[in-house]
Amino acid sequence: MNPITGGQMRIAMLSVHSCPVGRLGTKDTGGMSVYVLELARELGKSGHLVDIYTRVHDSEDRQIYELGRNVRLMHLKAGKGGEIHKLAVYAHLPEFTRELENFRQRTQFRYDLVYSHYWLSGLVGRQLCQWWDVPHLIMFHTLGVVKNTIGIGEIEPELRIETERELVKDCQRIIAATEKEKSDLIGHYGASPEAVHVIPCGVNLELFRPVDRKEVRRQLGFDGDGKNILYVGRIEPLKGLDKLLKAMTYLKNKPGIRLLVIGGDENNQCEINRLKQLSRELQIQGLVFFLGLIKQSELPFYYGAADVCVVPSYYESFGLVAMEALACGTPVVTTKVGYAENIIRQGRDGYVVMDNTPSTLSEKIARLLSRSNGDAKSVNARRATVTRFSWSKIAVRLARECETLRASHLR
Ligand code: UDP
Repeated sequence: MNPITGGQMRIAMLSVHSCPVGRLGTKDTGGMSVYVLELARELGKSGHLVDIYTRVHDSEDRQIYELGRNVRLMHLKAGKGGEIHKLAVYAHLPEFTRELENFRQRTQFRYDLVYSHYWLSGLVGRQLCQWWDVPHLIMFHTLGVVKNTIGIGEIEPELRIETERELVKDCQRIIAATEKEKSDLIGHYGASPEAVHVIPCGVNLELFRPVDRKEVRRQLGFDGDGKNILYVGRIEPLKGLDKLLKAMTYLKNKPGIRLLVIGGDENNQCEINRLKQLSRELQIQGLVFFLGLIKQSELPFYYGAADVCVVPSYYESFGLVAMEALACGTPVVTTKVGYAENIIRQGRDGYVVMDNTPSTLSEKIARLLSRSNGDAKSVNARRATVTRFSWSKIAVRLARECETLRASHLR
């Protein structure tokens, strides 16, 4: 008997192109992987059975991993192993779908519903739900039309947008991370408002917690009277790092100021080189430290060492980084993206900037730097703004949603 809903559910979660245990901060592995893993673990803890299916990314991948109580990760073949461009995964989806069904038949396992992540997984999910006669729940994470409207970075192909339209029509429920995403689904894709339910993402409150600021700054070597501005995330044009670099030119005369950039690996080298070149052109190269990928387990030290965490993105469907920083008690300056605007109390937890210009970004960063933010009262108050987003609470909401869907499907 399940403590949350009263009935155990067997959920197939699909994350075809991005492995939930992949290296966070690389090209295609970020918030969505965190979501899938954290949510699956919480659902598993509360008694549901969750199998996550992803493609083999590495020849070393075992087929099945146990990721926690009641949670398994399955690697299935879809094209040659190794990292391939997201769009190239499309051609291998039929093979992935067949592999999944063969696997299921061999193990005689049955699922109550499929929860797909991103449009590529949505295609697999739609087919499986037809075969299995179970409901299809989908979360898109980002939307092709919205990305193209912003017009920064890679243009999303018509294939993606058409597929998203079909999936919106065919699935039984869409989970949106914000009200904005819901209205985009309705406005751009014709989704029915009843089919879209908003459930925000969560934050791992055990991992992301306040640390001894002075001590971590000393350990990381970013100490003294210096001011640490922090960026964490994948390195791609949509993340708006160029704006943050430009904002640094307004701040560069402040004593001891530095920008720590976390994220990206050799697959983003081109973008990293572009940003390094921009730093040189702006004559701030001595103030910017590209630290590469940092394991999530170590990130609380960096959030803790920072005077401010900046999210300069043009687009975030949710934006976990802002929540993680707040959970560590660090103030955040963010553009008006994702969920943060619903949480941040202007001037207390940070700022949401409305006009996205480097000068406004720098002005708000400077305001935060000009005062002391590290006292226990402010740190705890910032953390308190996100405690209702623990993954266990988010999992309860998601489980209810799944239960309702299953019940209405059986009727
Ligand atoms: N992250 C990490 N190490 C890095 C860079 C990022 O662990 O070097 C994690 C970070 O903690 C966050 C996720 O990657 O949980 C990024 O999620 P977010 O929603 O901010 O951005 P997305 O990747 O979805 O665009």
